[in-house]
Amino acid sequence: MAGAPKDEKKPCAHPSCNCTVEKGKKYCSDYCHDARDTMELSCNCRHPECMAKGVAAGA
Ligand SMILES: [Zn+2]
Ligand SMILES: [Zn+2]
Repeated sequence: MAGAPKDEKKPCAHPSCNCTVEKGKKYCSDYCHDARDTMELSCNCRHPECMAKGVAAGA
């Protein structure tokens, strides 16, 4: 009991991905897992965190 945060999440291991993954996982999706060796400018994992990019923001 060292006061560890409850909802600890880590960023997806895919360099271009903005998603967070649960503790113990490395990639947010199979897409990122498969793309780990691929150079990509943007992530296409279809998660909201990544979809938001490119879409008209502002709201
Ligand atoms: Zn992503
Ligand atoms: Zn990802």
